[in-house]
Amino acid sequence: MRLFDTLTRTEREMRPIDGSTFRFYCCGPTVYGPAHIGNFRTFVLQDVLRRVLETGGTRTLHVRNITDVDDKTIRDSQLAGQSLVDFTTGWTQKFHDDCEQLGLLAPHIEPGAASHIPQQIAMIEKLVGEGHAYSSCDGSVYFKIASFPDYGKLSRLDQRELDLGKTQNARANADEYEKDSLADFVLWKSRRPDDGPNFWPSPWGDGRPGWHLECSAMIHEYLGKSFDLHSGGVDLVFPHHENEIAQSTCACGGHFAAHWFHIAHLLVDGGKMSKSLGNLYTLSALETRGFSPMEVRYVLIGGHYRKSLNFTLESLTAAREALAKLSKGARALAAKMGSDTPLDAAEFGPFQTAWNSLNDDLNTPAALGGLFTGLREAADLSGRDAAAALAGFNRVLRALGLTLPEEAPAGSVPIPESIRLLAETRWQARLAKNWGESDTLRAELAALGWSVKDGKDAYTLEPAS
Ligand code: AMP
Ligand code: ZN
Repeated sequence: MRLFDTLTRTEREMRPIDGSTFRFYCCGPTVYGPAHIGNFRTFVLQDVLRRVLETGGTRTLHVRNITDVDDKTIRDSQLAGQSLVDFTTGWTQKFHDDCEQLGLLAPHIEPGAASHIPQQIAMIEKLVGEGHAYSSCDGSVYFKIASFPDYGKLSRLDQRELDLGKTQNARANADEYEKDSLADFVLWKSRRPDDGPNFWPSPWGDGRPGWHLECSAMIHEYLGKSFDLHSGGVDLVFPHHENEIAQSTCACGGHFAAHWFHIAHLLVDGGKMSKSLGNLYTLSALETRGFSPMEVRYVLIGGHYRKSLNFTLESLTAAREALAKLSKGARALAAKMGSDTPLDAAEFGPFQTAWNSLNDDLNTPAALGGLFTGLREAADLSGRDAAAALAGFNRVLRALGLTLPEEAPAGSVPIPESIRLLAETRWQARLAKNWGESDTLRAELAALGWSVKDGKDAYTLEPAS
């Protein structure tokens, strides 16, 4: 397959460097709350990439880390009154549950940053020893970007006409900093009072690793100094990935990632998702509104990964219809097979175009379109031909990671929009601990013939018996 590479700005063929296994790394979630569906756009597209490679016969080794120590996890674990480990373990579990619901394949290796402190210290020692890093008087250690002439190549800093010389005295101690602040970045952060009990001993005194370094150390541990592909959302190009390249190349040699795969952002109603704007959607919140994880997955792969994708609740309703149509088409094809069974054939038949789209820069929207055209083309087939076509359809579907809904069981009742809205208002009242209103709305729903069952993170609606 061919995929666009952020570093060279060209499409390149994806082939394992070692001729056998495609080894790739994805920057994982920062576990200080539930991941939002924007995060999942990135994780789902990485999952589709892996599935396409595997469907095409390539073996993969997928490493995705868990960021369980950084400014945000430390801050919020303390606000929650929990130890860092308890706090991040809880949110990691939630992340895993969401991943499973969205049909994401579990990475082969999922290292956590907090359990790789010695590897991070060793990498900093190497960088200091070779003149690429220096410790400051407060005990923090910084990477000296002027010591790495290739700094800025990935994000094309040179095109932004930033002058390295001007910034030699600038330093950034925060894990995340602004796009245009070109600065020596922190590798080891000296212990501060607001870190609480979260610090480790090091040759530079007590402290903790900087966020950028975590990935470099874990990559070195599990993938070595050169590997096939590195990935994250576009916001990670600068500074995170730029900093990873600098640290890893200077400490380990090698060429680091042979290919860079960045996914454009998911927007909501045309803008950035943010807690303060109240437009930050999680999988659980969408399930509470009655949408299924597969509908969410369908929306997330409904746009090409190099373009921003605008999310709306209407797009979920459209996804529901599209999935139902695909399911109906597949059932019709299965009915025409007669006694033939769908063999796991290597051919794609009428779904060849859909498969080609996936291999052409991971064009998921074109592949989805190709499923519908393929089903129309297959409409006249029967017996063995229908069976072969269905096998091709299923292979593309698996590469997209989609599971189709079963036919609605006889007797199941669709939930009217007015009932859904009422139930949603009651759930919000319940979340706000407004018990009186919540009880009144429950009674209203009961009067309309619906009963609500509350779970921990969501509720279900059933016709009252
Ligand atoms: P974080 O948990 O913040 O470290 O982010 C996890 C992943 O989600 C990273 O690869 C981010 O680049 C990616 N990401 C964050 N926001 C969005 C968004 N709105 N759309 C797509 N990917 C995102
Ligand atoms: Zn990373």
